Amino acid sequence: MIKIIKKYHKTFFFSIFIALILTIFLINYSFISIETSSSLDTPYIWSESISVKKDFIKWIDFNVSVEALNATYKLDIDSYESDFHYNWIELLSLLACKYGNNFNKFKQKDLDSFAKQIKQYGSVSEVAKDMKYYNYYYEAYSAILREFLGFRDDETYGLKAFLPIAKNYSFSHYKDFGTSRSYGFSRTHLGNDLLGSIGTPIIAVESGTVFHLGWNQYGGWRIGIRSFDGQRYYYYAHLRKDHPYVPDLKEGSIVNAGDVIGYLGMTGYSIKENVNNINVPHLHFGMQVIFDESQVDTSKEIWIDVYNIVEFLKKNRSSVYMSNKETKDYSRVEF
Ligand SMILES: [Zn+2]
Repeated sequence: MIKIIKKYHKTFFFSIFIALILTIFLINYSFISIETSSSLDTPYIWSESISVKKDFIKWIDFNVSVEALNATYKLDIDSYESDFHYNWIELLSLLACKYGNNFNKFKQKDLDSFAKQIKQYGSVSEVAKDMKYYNYYYEAYSAILREFLGFRDDETYGLKAFLPIAKNYSFSHYKDFGTSRSYGFSRTHLGNDLLGSIGTPIIAVESGTVFHLGWNQYGGWRIGIRSFDGQRYYYYAHLRKDHPYVPDLKEGSIVNAGDVIGYLGMTGYSIKENVNNINVPHLHFGMQVIFDESQVDTSKEIWIDVYNIVEFLKKNRSSVYMSNKETKDYSRVEF
């Protein structure tokens, strides 16, 4: 035995060395995979584990289906003047917990059952008390949907957010969030493209302050609007060549949900300004959710899939008319 070890001692120690390297690699790898898998299922917990001081949401997979949005919205609106007013964000958060964020499982009877329980207990807290991720979903959905329902200009309670395409203008879209784009550098598509005719009036989905207005190599003529609470950044891109925005709109302007802000076009994909380099006229519509300023203008930005939100907002479209025949500008029809 000793002879064999002596004879092969170099090979033997080399094997030990390799085994040691492999062990170190496997230990590290298992840590990486634990973090990766937990980041997919439990972003809130994951964010706590990597960042002790900064306890804010790092990622959202917004998977709420149109059916779930519609059903919870209806319950919230219909119950507004009843003895118990349901909160659609609470209901959506309960459903997300029940389905593990897979809203393909949505059934009206599950929603009815939660509604019954909330009413019985008098609040959601008792119903949600054993749901590990309830607070995460509630915080995430509040950040996204907080300003969607409330008092409208006509002082009725209802849907305050608007579809980004003006009423009576047709458009089409498909599920294109996360698909790849190759212009400039390889990246994923962080929004939803609404295909329509050039000049279609573009509507502010939510009220806010114009944060960005002007040329961007990728977005062409674009407008970025930040909600008043700072949590949402709406991005409207590829606006019309020569006449992208309504008059007087500039960075710092205040816009109201339902206002005309610009016109659909095909600008972008060019360092040079005012160039139509997009093949199909469309509005690129994006929504970024911000929990901490460190998430702005970095790779840590949270963009959500707005396809289902666009579908949901089809029920609230802003009527417009040509308010200036010389410039061919449009304005919303006021109440
Ligand atoms: Zn796009």
